[in-house]
Amino acid sequence: MATIGFIGLGNMGGPMAINLLKAGHEVKAFDLSQAAVEHVVSEGGSAAASAVDAATGADFVISMLPAGVHVQGLYLTGEAPLLDVVSDNALIIDSSTIDAATAQRVSAAAAERGISFIDAPVSGGVGGAIAGTLAFMVGATDEQFTKAKPVLECMGKNIFHAGQSGAGQIAKACNNMMLSILMAGTSEALNMGMKNGLDPAVLSEIMKQSSGNNWALQVYNPVPGVMAGVPSSNNYQGGFQVDLMFKDLGLAMELSQQSNSPVPMGSAARSLFSLHKSKGNGGLDFSSIFKLYQES
Ligand code: NAD
Repeated sequence: MATIGFIGLGNMGGPMAINLLKAGHEVKAFDLSQAAVEHVVSEGGSAAASAVDAATGADFVISMLPAGVHVQGLYLTGEAPLLDVVSDNALIIDSSTIDAATAQRVSAAAAERGISFIDAPVSGGVGGAIAGTLAFMVGATDEQFTKAKPVLECMGKNIFHAGQSGAGQIAKACNNMMLSILMAGTSEALNMGMKNGLDPAVLSEIMKQSSGNNWALQVYNPVPGVMAGVPSSNNYQGGFQVDLMFKDLGLAMELSQQSNSPVPMGSAARSLFSLHKSKGNGGLDFSSIFKLYQES
């Protein structure tokens, strides 16, 4: 069993760290929030006094931070960059959703010092993090991927090798852009049906059995009351926040610009989420985009 320094114990990182403990690993936990650290300690982890403390002597360092600026600061440009303290034979796994360019920059800087840094963002939300069923999209060499896989399997069900450094982040940006389009499109169709007198549960079932079937209809219906146990039936609390989806759509737009890939549907979805966020809905689950249609 390995010693793992885990940095960033929020909605996702907390349960991920706990699943590593359940699998028998030793976890040295650090977060800027003491409460987040204490939660992991109550499940058997040990509290690290700082990120440097968590990373020093660890076999693996895993980070789950909000954005690229935090990841770059932690490893490279902050007051105490972790690349200065991580052991040569350690593997750094960054599971935050960030821009591919930052992941590649940090990975290259790590490689210059003989250290391995891979990107391994996730899909599956807080539910998947708790259940240990996340999908990991990994940007790494074959050797790095082979080393990371058994650790990632403690936290996820599907572990994909997307390609070399940055490829995991590119896969994640593509997936979430598609998810935003699906959720907006599903909300659009359901709202139109309702405005024309249809029962959203009946319409959802019809589309699920027809060519409009998609993930949002199957497991994440955006209309309150149609499906039990999803954020729409809980005042859009929990789940995946509009703020995070808006961040991810920004990453997708950057990627499209850099690669000259047309994304008219993604751009439209970003505008919708931007409008929805500007109305004070940033903290709600992203399926609340349905409200935007209802209010129009
Ligand atoms: P969160 O805000 O709940 O957690 C982030 C944690 O990082 C916080 O506890 C914060 O205190 C900590 N932190 C920030 N800077 C730090 C630093 N320098 N040192 C130590 N700790 C620091 O966010 P989250 O929902 O856990 O998301 C984390 C990442 O996972 C994001 O990149 C997000 O886009 C991605 N993600 C989230 C979901 C989801 O459903 N929430 C799903 C897939 C991917």
